[in-house]
Amino acid sequence: MTNLKQLGEFGLIERLRSKLNTRSPRVKKGIGDDCAVFSTRQNTVQLTSTDALIESIHFDLKTISPKQLGRKAMAVNISDIAAMGGTPYLALISLGLPPSTSTEFIDKLYSGLQTICDSHKIELAGGDTVASPKHLFINVCVLGEAYRNRVFYRTGAKPGDQVFVTGNLGDSAMGFRILMAKNKNFGTAKHKNALIKKHLEPIPRVKESNLLAKSRLKVTSMIDISDGLTQDLGHLCAKDNLGANLYENSLPVSEALYNVCLQKRYDPTTWALQGGEDYELLFTIKPEDVKYLKRLFLKANTFVSHIAEITNSPKKIMLTKKNGSKVSLEPATGFNHFKQK
Ligand code: ADP
Ligand code: MG
Repeated sequence: MTNLKQLGEFGLIERLRSKLNTRSPRVKKGIGDDCAVFSTRQNTVQLTSTDALIESIHFDLKTISPKQLGRKAMAVNISDIAAMGGTPYLALISLGLPPSTSTEFIDKLYSGLQTICDSHKIELAGGDTVASPKHLFINVCVLGEAYRNRVFYRTGAKPGDQVFVTGNLGDSAMGFRILMAKNKNFGTAKHKNALIKKHLEPIPRVKESNLLAKSRLKVTSMIDISDGLTQDLGHLCAKDNLGANLYENSLPVSEALYNVCLQKRYDPTTWALQGGEDYELLFTIKPEDVKYLKRLFLKANTFVSHIAEITNSPKKIMLTKKNGSKVSLEPATGFNHFKQK
């Protein structure tokens, strides 16, 4: 098995270049020059986003396979493009590699990157490679595009707007808990695997984002949930000095999460509210469009839940419990890198 000490930086880049074929006619130059060159389209705006994953902070190679890691690094970036109503089309990868890294590992990492790029028709057009003394890091930069007048921002919601979320909430956080636990006694194997899968193999909601962008709906704000529902709903409210009323009854909890919580005596609502790494889309629309939206998602055979409404109580997120009582939620209950909990 070869490692990077034998291959060197340029040997590695050549190896990657020979495996990554340029397919899109939009890419005039991919790997091999000082910049990637690609053509843009009329009537669109360009979206860019970048996200870094650092070993020991964002992932542990004991719990994620190299292929899953490559896939996930790309998925979380794709999710950011989807959160603006856009479609990704190009990506750059920066790698920090400990010199002992094997070429087999890198091949698997790139097979994960390539798999998800293929399914979204994203071109892997370049990157950077450096040595890292100890930990692996992987940074992805994605470019996307959206129709000029169909870009959805975090700001823009108004009191009375209705809040929707795609998919289920809290599964990824529970999957992470299971991966980290010494004792793996968490429900049935089927449920356990479903939760772990949601954590290791998140699905960016590009299809749903496209559905919204192509519809006549007035989407007043949108975000992808990476830090947990409460915190990210707080982001939709904060700049416009708004609040929200959430309904416990309508929070989407998977059968797997529900059953594991039942066994462990956890409250599924807490997991749905605070989870993190769900990568679901959270967005607001006008109250008169609620029926249209539900029909649109039903026709597309895609799950969406009507979970809250926007209020004019500044930064106050209220939860109406199943028994009718109301509690105020603390928005800062999600992940924060530089804050000690
Ligand atoms: P420079 O010295 O200008 O930074 P590099 O030698 O780093 O150029 O890169 C040469 C080419 O290889 C560029 O096209 C770059 O985008 C590509 N490249 C470098 N590292 C990677 C990587 N990890 N994945 C994909 N492409 C890469
Ligand atoms: Mg370089």
